[in-house]
Amino acid sequence: MAKIQEIRCIRTRPGGYWAIVKVVTDQPGLWGIGSANDVHHADTVTTAIEQVIAPRLIGRDAAEIEDIWQSVYAAAYWRNGSILNTALGAIDMALWDIKGKEANMPLYQLFGGKCRDAVPCYAHASGHDLDALVEDIERYLQEGYPVVRCQLGSYGGGGFVDAASAPRPRNARAADKVFDDELYLEAIPAMFAHLRDKLGFGPKLTHDVHEHLRPHNAVTLAKLLEPYRLFFLEDVLPPEQIDWFRQIKQQCTTPQAMGELFVNPQEYVPLITERLIDYVRVRVSKAGGITPCRKIAALCEWFGVHTAWQEGGDNDPVNQAAAMHLDLSSTSFGIQEENHFSAQELDVFPGHAELADGHLYTNDQPGLGIDIDEEKAAELLTASGPSGTAEDRRADGSIVRP
Ligand SMILES: [Mg+2]
Repeated sequence: MAKIQEIRCIRTRPGGYWAIVKVVTDQPGLWGIGSANDVHHADTVTTAIEQVIAPRLIGRDAAEIEDIWQSVYAAAYWRNGSILNTALGAIDMALWDIKGKEANMPLYQLFGGKCRDAVPCYAHASGHDLDALVEDIERYLQEGYPVVRCQLGSYGGGGFVDAASAPRPRNARAADKVFDDELYLEAIPAMFAHLRDKLGFGPKLTHDVHEHLRPHNAVTLAKLLEPYRLFFLEDVLPPEQIDWFRQIKQQCTTPQAMGELFVNPQEYVPLITERLIDYVRVRVSKAGGITPCRKIAALCEWFGVHTAWQEGGDNDPVNQAAAMHLDLSSTSFGIQEENHFSAQELDVFPGHAELADGHLYTNDQPGLGIDIDEEKAAELLTASGPSGTAEDRRADGSIVRP
């Protein structure tokens, strides 16, 4: 029986927001790692782990993953927030990593074995105009990505107009661009009309709205996109407005992906059991780790919903590895979002998943199969980090939800 001896966080990337928890046991050479990554609240998460949760877990049997998850969850009294979920998720991943090492099996074997050969991923294509976008999509299709996300311009894409040409108040704050729902409703269906004209209906395409629209316009967009047969439309609504999915489902067949901001089961359970979304997009660490995500995947299977665990820009190779083991062993898997890691960043994580030809491949090592080189991690650590998500506003200066 391996007892938990030490829990600490290793920080890397600018500002140290890639926080990787290391759970060390009293058995020589036996430890596990997990992702405590939070690009906006890294210090808060690492403080919660090292100063609040760790002291309660020292001396406990590392094998009791379910009981440790439930006890840490309940001990918080107020629960289902992103900070606690991330802290709990990191420790949960590390305990599964330890269990896999003790069993001498990769995690997907403990979860029932592979039910697919590798993990298909979707790529992020974008372009400042339609021709550039088509070129980017074709590049990813040629690389082997089975699905491609299509964005016009950068973050969100489409629906932005020069602030100088928008009807703004005389005391308007400084801005280069402002967001307009109606322009977005023009731009994105026109984008897909162009893409289907140039590429045909063979390529599987998605689009991410980043919750920018007012809810009634989200319904309109989903309906307008129906003829272009998307693989899915992502985050057409913010988490506060998920009841509007019922209206979307009554209006059109555009598949819906939602959930990278979800932290509470009350957000995703009704959407799954009422079949109001088609792909659940929670980030494994933000849901509380592998333990709750295995339950989400099982729930999805019974209701014909699929998983598309969130990765993308700020995520790390440890969370990616956790998602990959779920993907390999879940019948309800749908698609996996790609990541953006530099060669130097991957060098910090020996055993990281291999992304090639649009698919993720495991190395078949026990546990998560990934470790962290603490010296190389320190080389990538700098004092200041990202300053937050882009702040988009409408012409009158009001905030658009990210
Ligand atoms: Mg997204």
